[in-house]
Amino acid sequence: MSLLNVEGLSKFYDGETKVLNDINFEIKSGEFVSVIGPSGAGKSTLLRCINRLVDINEGKVLFDGLDVASMKKKELRKLRTNIGMIFQHYNLVPRLTVIENVLHGRFGYKSTLQGVLGMFTEKEKEQAFHLLEKLGIAEHAYKRCDQLSGGQQQRVGICRALIQEPKLILCDEPIASLDPNSSKVIMDYLQSISSEMGITCIVNLHQVEVAKEYASRIIGLRKGEVVFDGASQFLYNEQ
Ligand code: ADP
Ligand code: ADP
Repeated sequence: MSLLNVEGLSKFYDGETKVLNDINFEIKSGEFVSVIGPSGAGKSTLLRCINRLVDINEGKVLFDGLDVASMKKKELRKLRTNIGMIFQHYNLVPRLTVIENVLHGRFGYKSTLQGVLGMFTEKEKEQAFHLLEKLGIAEHAYKRCDQLSGGQQQRVGICRALIQEPKLILCDEPIASLDPNSSKVIMDYLQSISSEMGITCIVNLHQVEVAKEYASRIIGLRKGEVVFDGASQFLYNEQ
């Protein structure tokens, strides 16, 4: 069953140039897909259309059969609970501890209002701690997140996405700021999330080799158009 249907999607920011032009694809539940393409190809915009961080100009995005373009506030909140997001620059709250950042992913309203760990129930904290253990960073749970290395911060980002119990995780260049070793750790975790937890992953990457190593399917974007969509082994490196 398909989790995501993108049909004739076009996006322009200024009413002139199309950043995305008639994009069509379908993603089934549990797939691990990488979107590749040079900088400016529209990868980031594509992810932002899927969770409606930007408005959709033409076409449809259906998530679980529901039309994302026409969603109102309440439905959008639900959509974004179902869709976890991982960013190149982690987007953590620097003054909060690691565990607070994770809890923020699901119970954001509490930490924004109170800013204290005491606001969370033991069960919520256990859940966050369990995820940190899973990602191998439980020992840093009570440090401020800006004391961690980039790779560790991205693991916090993954925990923050996972605590929402999402059906889909969108990763926008998750390893673009990391060294090769940390990149491998992050990609390995993303792959295991997909295979062990059955969460669908879409990962934007500009490194073709990494995409071929991890993703079973690759969508190639160039100048806002899909130029390749298929199994990784059929992608030539020059693409
Ligand atoms: P990628 O993620 O592949 O690097 P982006 O989706 O970030 O591509 O950008 C695609 C194009 O859209 C680029 O030409 C970029 O300059 C433009 N763009 C991205 N965001 C905006 C914005 N908020 N306003 C105007 N143009 C934008
Ligand atoms: P990335 O390399 O992660 O795609 P960019 O430098 O392209 O980052 O974009 C950083 C931010 O600037 C994004 O929020 C993007 O939407 C915005 N942006 C990119 N291009 C433009 C543009 N031409 N006009 C306005 N905003 C833009």
